[in-house]
Amino acid sequence: MLRNITEERLIKRANNKSFLERYQNVINQFKREMGENPDHLWWNQTHPAHSGKLIAYLSMEYGIHASLPIYSGGLGVLSGDHLKESSDLGVPIVAVGFLYQEGYFTQKISSARNGWQEEIYREYDFNDMPIEPVLDEETGKHLIIKINFKTEIDVLVAVWQVKVGRITLFLLDSNIEENVPWYRDLTDRLYGGNTELRLQQELILGFGAVRLFEKLGIKPSIYHLNEGHCSFSSIERIRQCMKKESLDFDQALHKIRNKTLFTTHTPVPAGHDVFPFWMIELYFKDIIEEIGSDVLFALGSYDFGQGAGHGFNMTCLGMRTSLMYNGVSQLHKTVTEKMFFPLFNELKKKYKENFYQLTHITNGTHVSSFVSGIIQELFQLVNEDWLKTHDDPLTWQNQMLDRYVITDYHIWEYHLRAKERMFNRLRERSRENLRQGSWDTTMIIVNGALLDPDVLTIGFARRFATYKRANLIFSDIQRLKRIVNDPYRPVQFIFSGKAHPADDSGKLLIQQIVNYAKNPELGYRIAFLENYDLVLAKMLLQGCDIWLNNPLRLNEASGTSGIKASMNFIPNFSILDGWWAEGFTGTNGWAINPENKQEPNREAQDWLDAKSFYDILENEIVPMYYDREPGAIPFKWVNVMRQALLTTLPKFSARRMVKDYANQLYVNLLEKEN
Ligand SMILES: *Cc1c(COP(=O)(O)O)cnc(C)c1O
Repeated sequence: MLRNITEERLIKRANNKSFLERYQNVINQFKREMGENPDHLWWNQTHPAHSGKLIAYLSMEYGIHASLPIYSGGLGVLSGDHLKESSDLGVPIVAVGFLYQEGYFTQKISSARNGWQEEIYREYDFNDMPIEPVLDEETGKHLIIKINFKTEIDVLVAVWQVKVGRITLFLLDSNIEENVPWYRDLTDRLYGGNTELRLQQELILGFGAVRLFEKLGIKPSIYHLNEGHCSFSSIERIRQCMKKESLDFDQALHKIRNKTLFTTHTPVPAGHDVFPFWMIELYFKDIIEEIGSDVLFALGSYDFGQGAGHGFNMTCLGMRTSLMYNGVSQLHKTVTEKMFFPLFNELKKKYKENFYQLTHITNGTHVSSFVSGIIQELFQLVNEDWLKTHDDPLTWQNQMLDRYVITDYHIWEYHLRAKERMFNRLRERSRENLRQGSWDTTMIIVNGALLDPDVLTIGFARRFATYKRANLIFSDIQRLKRIVNDPYRPVQFIFSGKAHPADDSGKLLIQQIVNYAKNPELGYRIAFLENYDLVLAKMLLQGCDIWLNNPLRLNEASGTSGIKASMNFIPNFSILDGWWAEGFTGTNGWAINPENKQEPNREAQDWLDAKSFYDILENEIVPMYYDREPGAIPFKWVNVMRQALLTTLPKFSARRMVKDYANQLYVNLLEKEN
């Protein structure tokens, strides 16, 4: 931000008294928070025996802020929220990830005419990012870690750091002059490239994290691995144990296993990294010399069956080297248990009383990051301590339920303000892109310029993975036309999201929606917003009237965007999958196909779910939304909004989630003997 502001403007502001007062307030608040006595923070208060210990947290992506584009979707934003909340609670995490030179990608719709997603990669200027280099204590130069790919030349990675409040996140970057040219682009892109590049990145993350800690003298007591991407860290830890403590393989495995937690985040087999054995053999020659290929391969070997392939499975490596493991919702746990049934059987037989069942900790989202500023101000007026106690249901039951404290009028007015702000920003986006010549007039329409702020607005934004079924609402196009074009009670939809660069079926979904957006028969009441990111996400999650999610059931591990919407008084309208299977109460939103009726094939299931979507939308949602006297408030609707927030904010906050991780898993591992 500072680099984008002109000097002239800065000088002007420096002389503006009321601006300086506001600035000072923010800085003081920050200093107060950061200066808080650590003994007063939740972790040290609750688990004083473990103060001073460190928990390593590894993930391939982190969604912390739009200015640091090192995330692609839910997993990244969740990791970011985990760090933010750990900072708030004083949970002593030290995290490692990547600094990608080109990030994920910027989405460009080629033209409104063909609606095809193009990926634009730009080289980010790290000077524009809220990061700083980590310096080598001896030389005073940028710290560099070496990783060997079994060739003569080491890969060198520079280390950066971001301060997420009290938490340090280290980021690895191979794009440095000291590297040979063919290693410089290893960390260019998140989820780019082929299988071998992915393997190389995962080697850098897994080995790099362990070596970085060693170099800095950081001694994490336990490791929390998120997804298989970081499982190679276990192999490096085993190897170091064998070397430094002269243990044999089994002893070393036992030792690190007692100090490791693995969290799986995807219930779809294709979402788990699997490498061919020959590739593993190529990169692990020296370890194989020590322990033999059978032993190494056995750590990752898994066959999903049904032609999905046998190979070195990174999730299995993670779980075979972890004492505890968890899914990210109740349903996801059940699905994972089925998917990896032979693995859990094997572990149970092998470890007997030292075997732990798979558990679940349902995801949550970071409240002060996603609840809109004006709603936070409203809560502040009612209860100054609300943020400190926001995961306690009583905080909400006592005051927020009371219609004389936060009135229906408040809720509705605050919502309308957020909605208006969303439409203003959408219009500004259009104006800016039209002015710059990057969008033609059809693209302006596709991006929502003709949407009407007075109309019931349904939002759908997330990665365009096919199981999320972005096109479900177009299953019966005649019926949809009737719904959106109703002259008295119309409905409009806002879509946004990126498809993975290699996923043509995801791109086809985008193309389909762009086509509907410019189809006059749908009344220009469908929009597709280009280039979904954290900025757009927050805007939509605060400004729509309803948040829609219709994944193929049992395919969504948790989903978090619906939580963020509900925290902003925006009811969820979703399939009972992931968190919503636990969150839906009957009065805090709507369930699509509420009886979870199942059809034998995908096509029939889509049709059944779509029919339920139309039925509920037409018979319940639309009538309730428009049920109000002229100029008055839709009271029944506002009651659903109130329930959405009350039932979701405390229970699905990142605070509840991180406390669960700490109390149920971290503390157990910390207490485990080596
Ligand atoms: C919360 C969030 C997601 C996750 O959305 P789901 O609907 O849970 O898939 C993805 N991207 C961004 C930018 C988010 O903020």
